[in-house]
Amino acid sequence: MLRQTEGAATGVVLAGDLASLFMVWWQTEFKRIMEREMVELLLFTRGERELREHVQYYIHRMQYSGYSVTEREEVYARAKKKFDEMLRKDREGTVPLYRPKEWKREMKDEEKKQQKMNWFRKGDYESVLFIDATPNSELARKCRKIYKECGLKVKVVEKTGTSVKTMLVKSNPFKRQGKSGMGEECKVCEDTEGELDCKKREVVYEIKCRDCDGARGRYIGESANSLQERYKQHKEKLKTRSKDSVFWKHMKEHHGGKLTNLDVKIIGSYPFDATLRQVSEAGYIRETIPDLNTKEEYRANTPRPRNISIQ
Ligand SMILES: [Zn+2]
Ligand SMILES: [Zn+2]
Repeated sequence: MLRQTEGAATGVVLAGDLASLFMVWWQTEFKRIMEREMVELLLFTRGERELREHVQYYIHRMQYSGYSVTEREEVYARAKKKFDEMLRKDREGTVPLYRPKEWKREMKDEEKKQQKMNWFRKGDYESVLFIDATPNSELARKCRKIYKECGLKVKVVEKTGTSVKTMLVKSNPFKRQGKSGMGEECKVCEDTEGELDCKKREVVYEIKCRDCDGARGRYIGESANSLQERYKQHKEKLKTRSKDSVFWKHMKEHHGGKLTNLDVKIIGSYPFDATLRQVSEAGYIRETIPDLNTKEEYRANTPRPRNISIQ
């Protein structure tokens, strides 16, 4: 059941080009981090035995990440070389091995300033990277850290994983009868089976025509309001056969004007982050190309002002 996407490490499932690009970059980056950490080890570890243990630890980490003996040795050799170079400079007196705080402070301050300037303002992303959810968001956090260090304007978004339960359980014996807590009718609960938090706000969602096979009849949207409210609006526009309803348009074109059943699911939840929500929606649209979204929605690369009314 757990397939591994070709070329990607376990836990990382990305689409096509971006995935291979990312993996190539990540492999280089990972080696660089290992190298840097090993240099620090050489600098700050006292005692042969302790040092050997620490180096072993890093070598093992690389081994578990799938790096070959040659690659592991290469990284260590480079770290050692760098360290020897530092030793030499120390002996020469050009750069002390253990620099006091005041050492070339001006230069360091300038470096810091540059880093700050390179770092992006909130909401100013050039790209979105979708990665699979890992326990405690570990993978997402690591990716974010690295992007930040590199000054790349990439927003890392965790996909909400399909839980084993939803993969195994087709119909939910506790299916709600279209009622939400207050006894009012809920279109989301009416149309879906299984667990779905219809009250969830600030979401990116997908609506799919149940009468269409495969990828046809899909729409991706985002909403600050609850999914329940937004979905209700979609259903009302459909019911009145509004010309603004992408679903009615679909049913006219593909089902001879018959009102088909819809399925809805939450793809992502973004509490208190409207920008991220909109960037993610745009990213999902670009990545999965839903046929019911408009051309305008495809072109949207960056967060844009949206009116409240639905398409
Ligand atoms: Zn509901
Ligand atoms: Zn359809």
